[in-house]
Amino acid sequence: MAKTNSKIDRRQFLKAGVSAVVSLAVVGSAAYYFKDKSSLIEQGYLRPPGSRAEKDFLFSCIKCGLCVQICPVRAIKLADWDDGLSYGTPFIDPNVQACDFSCDAIQCAETCPTAAIDFQIFKEAGNKAVAPLFEKYPDGRFPKDINPFEVQITAMKRADKIGEAEIPNPEQCLAYNGHGYKGTLGHGNKGKLRPPGQTERVRIEETQVNREICDLCVIYCPLGEEAIELNKIEEGKFLPKVKDGCVGCGVCQMVCPTNPVSIIVKPVDKEPRFS
Ligand code: SF4
Ligand code: SF4
Ligand code: SF4
Repeated sequence: MAKTNSKIDRRQFLKAGVSAVVSLAVVGSAAYYFKDKSSLIEQGYLRPPGSRAEKDFLFSCIKCGLCVQICPVRAIKLADWDDGLSYGTPFIDPNVQACDFSCDAIQCAETCPTAAIDFQIFKEAGNKAVAPLFEKYPDGRFPKDINPFEVQITAMKRADKIGEAEIPNPEQCLAYNGHGYKGTLGHGNKGKLRPPGQTERVRIEETQVNREICDLCVIYCPLGEEAIELNKIEEGKFLPKVKDGCVGCGVCQMVCPTNPVSIIVKPVDKEPRFS
């Protein structure tokens, strides 16, 4: 009898031990997961243009990947399994491939089935920009220098700010040191880009440039001088200045030739639409 009891005791002891180990593992993983989750919400990803505030975004994105498929320059990636609550959600890494707007219609937002990336803001901005033209030229015969489609696309580009460029270490920037740049665009990364004013996309690692003073981040910015300009600091020294019109597309970071890059884009906090 005593022998049977001791067997039961041992079995119960082993069972209790296994349960304790499993519970600890579950609690540990959950703690890690939620620690990771909160830090990711704080840190934020550079989300595609039109994306809602981070918490709204996490709850409304169904991780279908349609935005990934539609982007012609493959700017959008999906977060990996070790990215906690963000797993499967889309983000842009401008160090590799920026959003260059060459889809022309903010197609990632247009295709999102849940409006986690919201096309409405672009639609409103586009309509608002073009409406005065139709008021002025009701028959639709615009002067040759006005292309209503271009006007609309420009307004759409400006409609949402996903991030903002900054130059964390000016002494790293070629222009700040009075240096030019001759070579290929970018810092060894591969990516595609439709340069401002051109109709075709180029591969950045195949695009040769030669600038007396480096200003690549300025001349390739899709928003132009309303977003960034090169300022003279002192004789022979220059520094790009990021302005309010910067929307955080990341093109400047993608084309910057220094390694590590001298200009980086950080996501901006947005106002949640749902409480
Ligand atoms: S707006 Fe940018 S990220 Fe979205 S589909 Fe167009 S190029 Fe890609
Ligand atoms: S400065 Fe221009 S290229 Fe750089 S993130 Fe802003 S809008 Fe994009
Ligand atoms: S592209 Fe890079 S190195 Fe050149 S001016 Fe801009 S930040 Fe400086």
